[in-house]
Amino acid sequence: MKTSVIGYPRVGVLRELKFATEKYFKDAFTKEELQAIAINLRETHWKVQKEKRIDFISSNDFSFYDNMLDTAVLLNVIPNRYKKLQLDSLDEYFAMARGYQGEKGDVKALAMKKWFNTNYHYMVPEIEDGTEITLIGDKPFKEFLEAKSLGIETKPTIIGAFTFLKLARFTGEKTIAYYINDIIRSYSDILNKFNDLGTQWIQFDEPYLVMDLSEEDIHLFTRLYDSILNEKRKTKVLLQTYFGDIRDCYGRVIAMPFDGIGLDFVEGKKTLECIKEFGFPDNKTLFAGIVNGKNIWRNNYTNTVNLIIELKKYCKNIVLNTSCSLLHIPYTLKNEDGLSEEYKKYLAFAEEKLMELSELKRILSNSDSVFTDEYRENKKLFNQVRCYKNENVHTAVSALSQNDFIRQPNFEEREKIQKEKLNLPLLPTTTIGSFPQTADVKTNRSNYKKGKISFEEYVTFNKKKIAEWIELQEKIGLDLLVHGEFERNDMVEYFGENLDGFLFTEKGWVQSYGTRCVKPPIIWGDISRSKPITIDYSVYAQSLTSKYVKGMLTGPVTILNWSFPREDISLKDCVFQIALAIRGEVLDLEANGIKVIQIDEAALREKLPLRKSDWHSEYLDWAIPAFRFTHSGVKAETQIHTHMCYSEFADIIKDIDNMDADVITFEAARSDLSIIKTIREGGFKTEVGPGVYDIHSPRIPSVLEIKEALFKMLEEIPGNKLWVNPDCGLKTRGNEETISSLENLVIAAKEIRKSLSE
Ligand code: GLN
Ligand code: ZN
Repeated sequence: MKTSVIGYPRVGVLRELKFATEKYFKDAFTKEELQAIAINLRETHWKVQKEKRIDFISSNDFSFYDNMLDTAVLLNVIPNRYKKLQLDSLDEYFAMARGYQGEKGDVKALAMKKWFNTNYHYMVPEIEDGTEITLIGDKPFKEFLEAKSLGIETKPTIIGAFTFLKLARFTGEKTIAYYINDIIRSYSDILNKFNDLGTQWIQFDEPYLVMDLSEEDIHLFTRLYDSILNEKRKTKVLLQTYFGDIRDCYGRVIAMPFDGIGLDFVEGKKTLECIKEFGFPDNKTLFAGIVNGKNIWRNNYTNTVNLIIELKKYCKNIVLNTSCSLLHIPYTLKNEDGLSEEYKKYLAFAEEKLMELSELKRILSNSDSVFTDEYRENKKLFNQVRCYKNENVHTAVSALSQNDFIRQPNFEEREKIQKEKLNLPLLPTTTIGSFPQTADVKTNRSNYKKGKISFEEYVTFNKKKIAEWIELQEKIGLDLLVHGEFERNDMVEYFGENLDGFLFTEKGWVQSYGTRCVKPPIIWGDISRSKPITIDYSVYAQSLTSKYVKGMLTGPVTILNWSFPREDISLKDCVFQIALAIRGEVLDLEANGIKVIQIDEAALREKLPLRKSDWHSEYLDWAIPAFRFTHSGVKAETQIHTHMCYSEFADIIKDIDNMDADVITFEAARSDLSIIKTIREGGFKTEVGPGVYDIHSPRIPSVLEIKEALFKMLEEIPGNKLWVNPDCGLKTRGNEETISSLENLVIAAKEIRKSLSE
């Protein structure tokens, strides 16, 4: 039995690639210096896999920014606006990734989207009418040869033709059909070239196969590959799927001329079922995705060994594989000195997953598998209690009943009461929560973390900042104020650190997009709140002004979605535990005189299952109640806000309304405002604050353009339901631009108010 890895992280254990690339962007690094770092990282990553005796090691999983972008460039899918800049290939690549502003022109970046159900984001290839799809690049071949020169035979991995076409954006008249022949030729050329190089295996990543597929989709897939695989070649082709099962096309796919098929047994609920129903051809190899590439827990060897024994009844050739690329987990536990062995022995990051693969290989090659030490050790681990149960939390969660999810009185009555009590003007102005995290704010936090200043000094500084910004907000003329979130580094980490049950890593970085990485907390045990978290700062801020100041919390679904979840209890149980803690904070804020509370659900949509048929049963049916539970205990006059970081929720609009918040703010400035129409058509009851300007850019919006946006919104939304606010928090912006932008926002709101009352 052999082992395989779909892909390896690439930013470097210490984020070397991130820092090198950012230096290059700032002209502090030459192209050669950047390339040298890249070569070094690739070598390190191949070697570590080799050392751990992985049989199928990927190449071309490296990327300077994103693999989808690599594939686009490889196939000459480069919009004209970038070609016109006449940059060299690397700079053109970065121009597509991040936009370009300089002596040669001014162009925006390609759009960026979430990669399936992960927190990774890919660049959306743009195919315009003039695009001529053809193999022009050599990255996969070069990297294959680079590994070969180190004595390592790799299997190059490339995003497959089907997934590429399905995720690309067609900006002209021509659609997929027009490009099919070109795509087939390009992918055949890729295969031929590898065949010439003597490559043994190549991996085509086709995660799109796990989505809900139409008959037309399946037809496209078969048409593409029947042609691409039409020629006889020595190089073998692995069709690699992940993030779910391929129930819609399994029977068809196994009849196609692939040499290997990679299936996901971790997220693919029906993978085993498909194999049992349709069998698996003897002349193909099953790459069985059994080591979870998305979560950080040790593999349960007993379960895995049993699964493989079962699979052996149906499949002759099995390779042990990761369930998806290891890109989605941190590198290694080696540098986590802050975590004791007691914790670490339950965890496996990328490097430790390699070790698991080779241990499993050893165990499965030994006919008396039960007797290997590794197997016994692992069994012991899973048989002992990992963390002690917090009985109170379990009791509270299991005692939840229907009524706990229903806020009284109903929305309409609350709306009336709140309008009276809060007495805010028409089109009230507000912000989403955070104000600029300027250098002094960050220094204060890091000084405190490093023990350079006392807790009192730390808090005093934050309070000074709060006071400054309360005064500023009053001066600007905003109606509903915020304290500014100066004490928070990250909206999830902050709550994780203040709740019981989370673990934090020091170097557990995971690439989110390009050079950006996140460090998700680990949900280790039962979540509980042993002390109030935000009360002190909120009450202080409220004491400084006669206007209302919003209490600011992160919602349970977002906390769950941006953490590594437990696998020993259900996501539903876990999110209810978090909801219980946040509810406690909500009630404490209310008891301390805070009249408006915002519970951010920035990431609510992120873990929506890939298949529509699973949306409710597997996600929304507990995610929405979890949110409702956080605020169902407050008084009628307490106004609950929520915030989301995107406006693509037309398809779950009923569910969003069903969160039963009083107000929702969301990103809208960058979209075409079509959501506003959907909101009206759907009879959305919640008051809305679609962002009137984009906070992702330092640009200051003019009064006129904000007014125009508001007028457009008012065409669909009644004035008494509309709020005026930016798209998202302002923490990444500078002070000056923030103040000017908000001044314009307030002027615009006031002018419209006036014209409405005339
Ligand atoms: N309240 C948070 C902030 O303003 C919300 C951030 C987010 O939506 N990502 O920063
Ligand atoms: Zn946001």
